[in-house]
Amino acid sequence: MKAPVAQQSLLIELQLIDSAILHATNRLKALPEREQISAIHARLKKTAEELAVIETELADVAIDLRRSENDVEQVADRMAKDEARLASGNASPKELEQLQHEVQTLTKRKADLEDAELEIMMRHDGVKARFDELKSDEVGLQKLEFELNVRLENGITEIENELNAKKDERLALLPKIDLALVELYEKIRSSSGGLGAALMVGINCGGCNLAINAIELERIKGLDPEEVLRCEECRRILVRP
Ligand SMILES: [Zn+2]
Repeated sequence: MKAPVAQQSLLIELQLIDSAILHATNRLKALPEREQISAIHARLKKTAEELAVIETELADVAIDLRRSENDVEQVADRMAKDEARLASGNASPKELEQLQHEVQTLTKRKADLEDAELEIMMRHDGVKARFDELKSDEVGLQKLEFELNVRLENGITEIENELNAKKDERLALLPKIDLALVELYEKIRSSSGGLGAALMVGINCGGCNLAINAIELERIKGLDPEEVLRCEECRRILVRP
C-alpha cells in the first residue's frame, strides 16, 4: 500500500489522539473514588447492622430501667404511708411495732432496689455510649461518602470533557486521511492493544520497541517514502520520521 508522507504523519497524529482516548477511558474506569465508595458502603452496612442490634438492646435496657424505677417508687410510697401512720400517733402499740418492723424491711428492700437500679442505669449508659459512637461513625461515613461522590462526579466530568475534546479532534482529523489507510490502521489497532501505527525511533519500532534488522533497514532505505511500512515483528504500520 502507498500513502503520501503527509498522510502517514497524520496517521501518527490520529494514533496520539486514540492513545489519549484509550488512556482517558481507562482512567475513567479506574477512578480511585469508585473503590473508596464501595469500601464506605461496606462499612455503612456493617454500622447499620450493629446499630440495629444496639437499638434493640437500648430499648430492652430502657424497659428494665423504667420497671426498676417503678419498683423503687412503689416501695417509697409504701414507706411514706407507714411513716405517716407512725407520725399520726393513732396507732396502737402492737400496730406501732408492726409498722416499725415493716419500715425497717422496706428500707432494706428500697436500698437493694436502688442498687439494682444503679446497675441498670450504668448498663444503660454503656449501651447508650456505644449507640452514640455508632451513630457518630454513621454520620462521619455518610459525610465521607458524600465528599467522595462529589470528587467522583468531578473526576468523571473532567475526564469526559477531555474525552469529548479528543473525540472532536479525531472527527476533524479523520476526513484528512485516506480511508484505506485508516481501515488498515483500525484493523491493526483493534488487535494490537490500541496501537495501530508507530514512528520509527532510530532503528527501533516505536510500537514494539524492537530493533529493525540490518537487512530490513537496508530494504527500507531503498523504498519509496510513500510505501506504507509494516514492522516485521509486531505488524504495526511503521512511519518514518
Ligand atoms: Zn513493531
